[in-house]
Amino acid sequence: MMVTGSTLASTARAIALARTHPGTLFATAGVHPHHAGELSAASLTELEELARRPEVVAVGECGLDYFRNFAPRAAQQQAFHHQLELALRVGKPVFLHQREAQAEFTAVLREHAPRWRGVAHCFTGGAGELAGCLELGLAIGVTGWICDERRGAHLAALMPQIPAERLLLETDGPYLLPRDLKPKPASRRNEPAYLPHVAAVVARARGESLASLAGTSTAAARALFQLPP
Ligand SMILES: [Zn+2]
Repeated sequence: MMVTGSTLASTARAIALARTHPGTLFATAGVHPHHAGELSAASLTELEELARRPEVVAVGECGLDYFRNFAPRAAQQQAFHHQLELALRVGKPVFLHQREAQAEFTAVLREHAPRWRGVAHCFTGGAGELAGCLELGLAIGVTGWICDERRGAHLAALMPQIPAERLLLETDGPYLLPRDLKPKPASRRNEPAYLPHVAAVVARARGESLASLAGTSTAAARALFQLPP
């Protein structure tokens, strides 16, 4: 299981948590586009130190979010470039966030391609975006967004297009509680415990068994993040 860092402080907490369950929990080290403003020269050095820790298996989440625009776009682009370079320096893959910014996201990645490896985390886009991500060589992270009948229904038809060795499963907990859980949990908090539900929905969309998808998606995650056997 990956514990995602989205700021310097949450990266430090993710590493601390991962250390309590060695070999089960792994961390990412990164600054989410919402917090791009916090990535100064000094904090970039600090982030690099964190990214080199053995518990850290990816740099991110990093990327672009032109939907919320919580940070100015120029700051987001700069933080994205810095973290792609950092990932190359530390030799780890990138954990990528992208919302409403596909063109710019693709352009930035192309500039750095094909030297990095990475995953388009929580993929929610359409056929064009999927083709773009696959062309960039990215793995695709699928969450319980696919269980959302209002805005995720289009994802089912795209599932068979993702090569098994590039399909990863995620919860994005504590966010994105699958909307079709029965019975409905009392809490809105999404948890790793709901991953088998997401896996079952994705497996059905791909016309394969849950066991098959569980096997290939685990192998894909192990390969991308170079997890111990
Ligand atoms: Zn994200």
